[in-house]
Amino acid sequence: MSQFDYDLFVIGAGSGGVRAARMAADKGLSVGVAEERFLGGTCVNVGCVPKKLFVIASQFPSKFKLSESFGWQTATNLSFSWEILKQNKDKEIARLNKIYDGLISNSGAKLYHDSASFLDEHTLNIGDKKITAEKILIATGGHSRQPIFRGNEHVVHSDDMFAIENLPKELLIIGGGYIAIEFACLMNKLGVHVILMNRSQEILRAFDREMVGKITQSMIAQGIDLQLNDEISNIEKVNGSLSIQTINGFQIRADMVLSAIGRSPNLSNLKIDNIGLKLNKYGAVEVNKHYETNVGNIYALGDVINRYQLTPVAISEAMVLVENLIGARKIFDYENIPTAIFSSPEFATVGLSEEVARQKFNEIDIFVSSFNSLSTSLSDQKSQITVKLIVKKTDNKVVGCHMVGDHAAEIIQGMAVAIKAGATKEVFDNTVGIHPSTAEEFVTLRSVTR
Ligand code: NDP
Repeated sequence: MSQFDYDLFVIGAGSGGVRAARMAADKGLSVGVAEERFLGGTCVNVGCVPKKLFVIASQFPSKFKLSESFGWQTATNLSFSWEILKQNKDKEIARLNKIYDGLISNSGAKLYHDSASFLDEHTLNIGDKKITAEKILIATGGHSRQPIFRGNEHVVHSDDMFAIENLPKELLIIGGGYIAIEFACLMNKLGVHVILMNRSQEILRAFDREMVGKITQSMIAQGIDLQLNDEISNIEKVNGSLSIQTINGFQIRADMVLSAIGRSPNLSNLKIDNIGLKLNKYGAVEVNKHYETNVGNIYALGDVINRYQLTPVAISEAMVLVENLIGARKIFDYENIPTAIFSSPEFATVGLSEEVARQKFNEIDIFVSSFNSLSTSLSDQKSQITVKLIVKKTDNKVVGCHMVGDHAAEIIQGMAVAIKAGATKEVFDNTVGIHPSTAEEFVTLRSVTR
């Protein structure tokens, strides 16, 4: 009989926490989970899932238009209800919340809808209860960082965008990362005039520059105003709208300012001082490759450790952790994590950018192809697709695979299997294409571009 209430207590029922709790319970551990907000975490409630629903919603107008080139007569008075979209999105999320509830309870783990804080390394305050656990996992995720300037109380964050009552007419977005680019594209397609302000010249800084160039051109062509190398110095509310002053001396009017300048770990309610938990220089929980913190029985994973803030990564980390808790000594391989930005056009990638590959290897071959999509071939509205492979010359391995264009995420997911398996360019060349498709371009790239 254990001296503790639980073998494992998980703080946070987001992607990583729920997977860890379910899997640990399946393996026979007694598991408790605390969640103070919503089941499924950021991804399900104010992230990936509702964002993708909004992206899908935003794509209809250009599809209606395109259908005319295929002979369809579409209604001339199209109208869009933000309210209906939000209501239906909320219904879907409520359904997913229930599924998460079921997943936790069916696994045998006990869920507490309450906040948790540390009393000591084995004892938690969960609401008004004291609960003990042999091992504790911190999987509390993160929150949007607040920008620092006068009037910053007027900005909204991505969480808020899922509940705004009305779409703004003029939206200024700060940042040039995943969230800024996705919201800029989807809001623009929903009819909002978007200004994207980034502190440097480079949006999506960590990604392949050639591919980012394609997205940038396309965003400009769609009417998004890019204000690069600039930052807000001050926001004032004037007659119901916002007057924004920039450090380069511009004055901009907008109805809403969305800040998307990165996310910070959720630690403020945990009372981590009571256990002396060590944080890294970014304020994230410091863990080793086994997700062990400096406190012997305490672990952390997902956004709170700030390695890759991606749902599938948190889930993979959780699975490795649970295997390790029951005796394995596995390490999650962070190489070749595929990822997508649901911009317009979509961008997906796995492996190295050309810039990183050039730094890392002496010689590389680059294969690039840009072409118009068959789906827009009958219309004036052209949609360009770009595919790119980066091949290491010494062993002919494909070390980077990138795509900008419709269905990029779906296609790169498949390519990621090949890259993870270490496929060479020869394997790509020997693979038969599916015709006519966009994805076949990846196996028909024969001439080196540079
Ligand atoms: P990102 O880290 O992607 O981008 C942050 C952006 O904000 C960068 O352009 C950065 O510029 C800029 N920035 C940082 N600090 C400041 C500052 N003080 N003032 C002005 N600009 C600043 O963060 P996001 O908030 O967009 O997204 C958070 C995370 O969520 C992502 O990293 C991603 O892991 C995840 N996510 C994933 C999605 C997906 O998988 N499709 C979708 C949405 C989010 P600089 O380049 O100069 O540093």
